[in-house]
Amino acid sequence: MKILVINAGSSSLKYQLIDMANKKVLAKGNCERIGIGGGKLSYKNFAGQSYEYNIDMPNHTVAFNNVKNALISGDEAVINSLSEITAIGHRVVQGGALFKHSVLVDEEVINGIESLNDLAPLHNPAHIQGIRAAVEAFGREVPQVAVFDTAFHSTMPPKAYIFGIPYEYYEKYQIRRYGFHGTSHRYVTGKCLELLGREEAPEGTKIITCHLGNGSSIAAVKDGLVVDTTMGLTPLDGFIMGTRSGAIDPSVVTFLAEKENLSPKEMSDLLNKQSGFLGLSGISSDDRDVTAAAKEGNERAILTQDILRYQIIKYIGSYIAAMGGVDAIVFTAGIGENQTSHREEICEGLSFFGVELDKEVNASKRGELAEISTASSKVRVYVIPTDEEIVIAEDTAALVKSLIE
Ligand code: AMP
Repeated sequence: MKILVINAGSSSLKYQLIDMANKKVLAKGNCERIGIGGGKLSYKNFAGQSYEYNIDMPNHTVAFNNVKNALISGDEAVINSLSEITAIGHRVVQGGALFKHSVLVDEEVINGIESLNDLAPLHNPAHIQGIRAAVEAFGREVPQVAVFDTAFHSTMPPKAYIFGIPYEYYEKYQIRRYGFHGTSHRYVTGKCLELLGREEAPEGTKIITCHLGNGSSIAAVKDGLVVDTTMGLTPLDGFIMGTRSGAIDPSVVTFLAEKENLSPKEMSDLLNKQSGFLGLSGISSDDRDVTAAAKEGNERAILTQDILRYQIIKYIGSYIAAMGGVDAIVFTAGIGENQTSHREEICEGLSFFGVELDKEVNASKRGELAEISTASSKVRVYVIPTDEEIVIAEDTAALVKSLIE
């Protein structure tokens, strides 16, 4: 069975074709600048060959048609016929309280995703465009599945997801913590439970998963189920990220809006696109640039790193308290998998809890699965490379099988 995994943005379409027989990625690529001119399709096949074409793509349907061609045409083909694609799995950012699991897409599901547009105005409308374009390009006979970033967090108790504002706004607008990166947290939780030998018996386990990338979030996972997470109504909450502020005193928003005469949209841009590493360091949203500047003694880069590590330590500490302990801490995503000095400083700050890092092992592990704690550490610390696409493909395959059986 071959599954096409899709992540559709408003002007982009990322895809992976995965062979479920051996979980091999046959091809992965990206359509950029859809609908805004100057389009580009770039992709790699399983042998590692890269291709790049400038193609104007006025809409997502045209983008899908280019993806189809790339998969079956000429020397670059990775499959003989499109009929080899059994189903399509879509990443959907916001599932709200409606979608607690992945689902087969039908008109009712599309309407459900659409009803959550207000909660994810940048993402959900684009996902619907992607789903509709996939139906147009591949036909109704190819089943489609939606996999939600929020779903893994749906086990949080109300005390973790209700905000301290008048309750009527929760009832009226569903304003609450939802959490994001759920597919990544779910994948690394599964791997961590395997490493702990507890995949069949997660009851009693306490794991903290740190997805540290351009966007970042941490989840507290008890008995294999999320009990709290840092992102909230939107991915803005939590700690500093590439361009997002993370949690701040809410009064800063009203204070700044008044002083700078900012509209809600301008305020949202400031907090989502101009803050975090970029706004603090004045250098870059990319942690590699900030790290390089910090090494050269740039004070604001050093401050940015200090804030990041301090905030992460505080969240992990609070989740240890919330769960009454911790068995394992997992680092994943671009920064978590690769940035060894952040891992070292964060673990140092958690030594009170019995976290003991093997500094040599830690310094040598980038982008690979590894245990980086010492044998005597009370808490296991792992680096686990994330793989959201395989989770989407597996959920899609499982739901499609249920359709056939
Ligand atoms: P992601 O959103 O998961 O792609 O992560 C992006 C972040 O990871 C950026 O801040 C990068 O600086 C960081 N990152 C990615 N690869 C590396 C690497 N090899 N070494 C250090 N940081 C990295």
